[in-house]
Amino acid sequence: MKILITEFMDSNSIDDLKNNFEITFDETLWKNTKKLKEIIKDYDGLIVRNKTQVNKDILSNANNLKFIGRLGVGLDNIDTELCKTKNIHVQPATGMNADSVAEYVISSSMSLIKKIPIFHYGTVKGDWPRTTIKSAEINGKCIGIVGFGTIGRKVADYSLKNGLNVLAYDPYIKKLGDNEKNYKLSSLGDIFKDADIISLHLPLTEETKNLINRSSFLKMQKQPIIINTSRGSVVNENDLIDAYDQNLISGFALDVFENEPIKKDLCERITSEMNCILTPHISGVTTESNIRVSDFIVKKAIDFF
Ligand code: NAD
Repeated sequence: MKILITEFMDSNSIDDLKNNFEITFDETLWKNTKKLKEIIKDYDGLIVRNKTQVNKDILSNANNLKFIGRLGVGLDNIDTELCKTKNIHVQPATGMNADSVAEYVISSSMSLIKKIPIFHYGTVKGDWPRTTIKSAEINGKCIGIVGFGTIGRKVADYSLKNGLNVLAYDPYIKKLGDNEKNYKLSSLGDIFKDADIISLHLPLTEETKNLINRSSFLKMQKQPIIINTSRGSVVNENDLIDAYDQNLISGFALDVFENEPIKKDLCERITSEMNCILTPHISGVTTESNIRVSDFIVKKAIDFF
């Protein structure tokens, strides 16, 4: 069996794969769609992250492909419907990076509630803004979690441990479990009204695209902090920056963007004075999660074949 890996992967896991399969590893191949389309016909398995576009064009040539391992979660770069019709098994690494994302959400919530980015910039500039900027505690505040799946639930767990009240919105969940009595299932409207922090944990679909937009920001009553680790297109980025400029929200952490790497015109709207944190799609990628995710996909590939 031949497996092609088109993005970065833990090196020990690649060795494990080599003990079981014939492996081609090229972590830059995701950029070269022409070459990928040419060679994909020779492979039984494909392992990707979120950059490789496994679309109709690539799949049209994937005549031997039976297994796609996704080093992470979120399948918006894979045409899963077409995979079904071609009998290709698509395997995400569900839950394997949930702790990393949850830690990112809690640490950025704390930083933004405490206005660390603004204090940092003011101090470096020599302003010593000790009394001019008001900081706060996270304890006792309310977090609204939008999308209550694997990561949303992990974020809820970390939030509760850090003294936050948890509201959860997920139209596909009708009832919380017996061990989730400390959370409240809410409408999106209630989250906009009551949350001090709003954290997004949705897949990118036709339904969730642009879900958080100008009209959502206008409904937010507590100048919340917005944290997006899901997919960039779930939030209208220009509306978000307008909302910050108009004091409808008091800060934001963005780990994902509509275009990655982030486009220049969006960068130009962000200034050092803003209470914000921008990161290059790394909330789920830590030393520990990289090993867990890679190990998991190796095991699944071996089981499958
Ligand atoms: P999941 O499938 O376990 O959970 C997603 C939840 O969203 C489900 O419970 C689903 O019912 C809910 N949902 C779907 N449509 C909704 C809607 N319109 N409104 C509210 N809820 C809705 O997925 P997960 O493992 O929790 O991951 C969530 C997303 O986070 C992934 O799809 C991926 O895009 C993103 N992600 C990003 C990183 C990163 O590094 N930034 C890492 C991991 C995952």
